[in-house]
Amino acid sequence: MKNILTVDVEDWYHICDIEHILPPSCWDQCESRILTNVEKILNLLNRFKLKATFFILGDVAERTSDVVRMIHGEGHEIASHGYGHVQVYKQREDEFLQDLLRSKTLIEEMIGEKVIGYRAPEWSICKGKRDSYWAIDLLVQNRFLYDSSIAPLRFIGIPNAPTKPYTLTTPYGDIKEFPPLTMRSFFGNLPIGGGWGLRIFPYRTIRRTINQLNALGHPVLIFCHPSDFDTFHPPIALPWVKRFVCYGRVRTTEERMTQLLNDFEFSTVRETLLG
Ligand SMILES: [Zn+2]
Repeated sequence: MKNILTVDVEDWYHICDIEHILPPSCWDQCESRILTNVEKILNLLNRFKLKATFFILGDVAERTSDVVRMIHGEGHEIASHGYGHVQVYKQREDEFLQDLLRSKTLIEEMIGEKVIGYRAPEWSICKGKRDSYWAIDLLVQNRFLYDSSIAPLRFIGIPNAPTKPYTLTTPYGDIKEFPPLTMRSFFGNLPIGGGWGLRIFPYRTIRRTINQLNALGHPVLIFCHPSDFDTFHPPIALPWVKRFVCYGRVRTTEERMTQLLNDFEFSTVRETLLG
């Protein structure tokens, strides 16, 4: 059973909701850490001879096109993480469409191939109060074949959304949705597939959950960010929640990822979808 490994290619300063501390107009002045950290991820994947899906942020592609060419040159799948890293529910439909197409066009011109996958910043395709579910229709209308933006979680995402890959039907056609790995608990689903959850919950619990899902024939999806592999301290005072989410036990990421790659098989979303 091959699971799915994904990377959101964004720099340390592409953090949602910190515009009051670091507005996008200041991104130009921030130290770029992207090349060094992406190289670490590529070296790790090379060691295990496996390919992953890289969701590239348009802003990164524009500033550091070398990074896109380097990832693509090594045979990994290139997908889109949008352009400006604003949550979908904070955008109007026309703003979202503009952000989506700007990144898609930019990346496709760089790699000379069609981009078929999208992941929203911070899993921000939601229903209810922060409704942004309309984005799914726009993805289908713009020829995306899959999406990976709906987390089955309470605080971000749609708490009762399916936890395994599934198909969404729209008036314009179908699209496949790939949710991140979660674990059921008394408190609802827990985010063990990447970020702080992957670093904090016991590895044996994560491994057992993956084994159980794989035994039922379901691949799981793991995600990480270049900054998860960095011990760099950002030169700004982040709110404590952001500091925890982005940097809590960050030193354990590499060890966790290595354990996962040792214990399980991984591939890209494209290969899982199209074979
Ligand atoms: Zn992101």
